[in-house]
Amino acid sequence: MNKIIYLDAAASYLKSDAVIDSQVDFLRNNYANAGRGICARAIGVDNMLNSVRKKVADFIGAEFQNIVFTAGTTDGMNRVVSLLRPDNNVQVALSVLDHHSACLPWVATGAKTVLCPLDSQYNFDIDNISYADVFVLTAMSNVIGVAQDVEAIIRAARKKNPNVIVVVDAAQFVVHEKIDAKKWDADFIVFSGHKIGADTGVGILYIKNPDDFMPDKFGGGMVQVVDGNNFVLNCVPERFEAGTLPLTQIAGLGVALENIEKNRPDISLLKYMRDELSRLPQIQFVSPDGAAILSFVVDGMHCLDVGAMLGARNVCVRVGQMCASWIHKALGVPGTIRISVGAYNTIEEINKVIAIIKDIVK
Ligand code: PLP
Repeated sequence: MNKIIYLDAAASYLKSDAVIDSQVDFLRNNYANAGRGICARAIGVDNMLNSVRKKVADFIGAEFQNIVFTAGTTDGMNRVVSLLRPDNNVQVALSVLDHHSACLPWVATGAKTVLCPLDSQYNFDIDNISYADVFVLTAMSNVIGVAQDVEAIIRAARKKNPNVIVVVDAAQFVVHEKIDAKKWDADFIVFSGHKIGADTGVGILYIKNPDDFMPDKFGGGMVQVVDGNNFVLNCVPERFEAGTLPLTQIAGLGVALENIEKNRPDISLLKYMRDELSRLPQIQFVSPDGAAILSFVVDGMHCLDVGAMLGARNVCVRVGQMCASWIHKALGVPGTIRISVGAYNTIEEINKVIAIIKDIVK
């Protein structure tokens, strides 16, 4: 049987042996709950948590107290909504670049929403940034695959409203580019572990000023003392982490961060594939040349059919709307075919898939 060729890193990145081994080692040799014990094992888990939190902080140019462990980007965005609790007088700027995880939590609050204008290349139009109380910024669309100029956009949003609260969805950006939380000056940044080679179930919420917010979740681990109905909150960031954290996944996240920093996906593979496929007149590209994601449509073929045919030949790609219906509406297509690579993909795989696509669309 032919080996599977997995070209769907943007949906979820394959896990390296080092990440898998670190999780197995944790489960087999070091497992205990954190923050609730004084035995050697429990202290070891506390040390592991501290060390991974510090690694995440270094990874995004932040401090230890800014880093909250979540379940992923979707969870992080919903947590920001819970922390801010916008009412219907609050104006939230969204954009068609947003994944449903970035826009729907705000839409569902009933807050006023505006769509921030983009230029013809689907980049934020910095000269026409919308006024907003909350500005949601998708740093890289999961369909277009281009890194936005986050720092300049945030500066422009603050020029429009110095009190704006900026929330960055860095789920795709973090795979390819360095986040610089201090330089960006965002209030919140969210991303998922599984898109950078860690396991599912763990993500990061960066909070610039954690002392300014009351926790949105209550329970064990986020309080120091409880006396009847009175309680004293734990320090930041732990006060935002009620309940038991995904410890095994956090252990793996530490290793995944080291991997991705040293070895980012080689997006020149996508440029090469694009150059090859551009010889086929029936292929229309949606993502621009040089993007970190290759999205396209095929004239006369539904994207689901193309996906099924590729799947039947052991090629895993993503097709459809990818939880990003707004950008597909703006593009005027019902769905796209998306190819994305991890550091594990090879030129041999890309050549095989080019040949298969040529055969399918001929
Ligand atoms: N935002 C973007 C840009 C994404 O690409 C994704 C996942 O595809 C998400 C948010 C949601 O991430 P998760 O499902 O890990 O919460």
